[in-house]
Amino acid sequence: MSKPVQDWSARVEELSGAKLNDCYQCGKCTAGCPRAEVMDVPPTRIMRSAQTGDVLEVAKARSIWQCLSCQTCTARCPKNVEVAGVVDALRQISIETNTFSDESLKVVSFQKAFLRSVRRNGRTNETEMATDFEARYFFRRFDVANVVRVGLLGPKMIARGKMHFKLGSPVKDKALVKRIFDKCGVEL
Ligand code: SF4
Ligand code: SF4
Repeated sequence: MSKPVQDWSARVEELSGAKLNDCYQCGKCTAGCPRAEVMDVPPTRIMRSAQTGDVLEVAKARSIWQCLSCQTCTARCPKNVEVAGVVDALRQISIETNTFSDESLKVVSFQKAFLRSVRRNGRTNETEMATDFEARYFFRRFDVANVVRVGLLGPKMIARGKMHFKLGSPVKDKALVKRIFDKCGVEL
């Protein structure tokens, strides 16, 4: 039996809570977006792709990782479409389907290292997070220059109190944080 075709528009709606067909392509989300100038696919086009189900194509775009989650697009939309939520949903789909571009690997690796650290400790442990990120990024890219650069930067940051080995004050209920992650069901 052949695999059912995924309805990507429905998946985006499910993840974001946005009503995609409410968007009438007026462009106000792009006009207000502080990152639109550097985006390869601006918010209005992201919305159009989500409407037409062309989601895996846009999940490769750099834009979804350049978004600041500032919510300006959502606030400006005359139709109250949850545009920032759509971008967030695309990030999740991009990770789930491994469709992010090679150019976005660095930011994806950093985001995963950050979230893994929060899930484990209830908050970030900077040294653990930096090590996790460097290890994963290095093994995907063999970027020796980056490892050397960070290796030289680490001691300077520690000397200036910008990076700490200790976790700081403990989180009271780590299990609660873990439950939030489990409920979201995000694979890291
Ligand atoms: S502002 Fe709203 S209606 Fe206009 S293009 Fe963006 S999402 Fe669509
Ligand atoms: S949330 Fe993202 S897409 Fe929306 S305005 Fe901010 S940077 Fe642009």
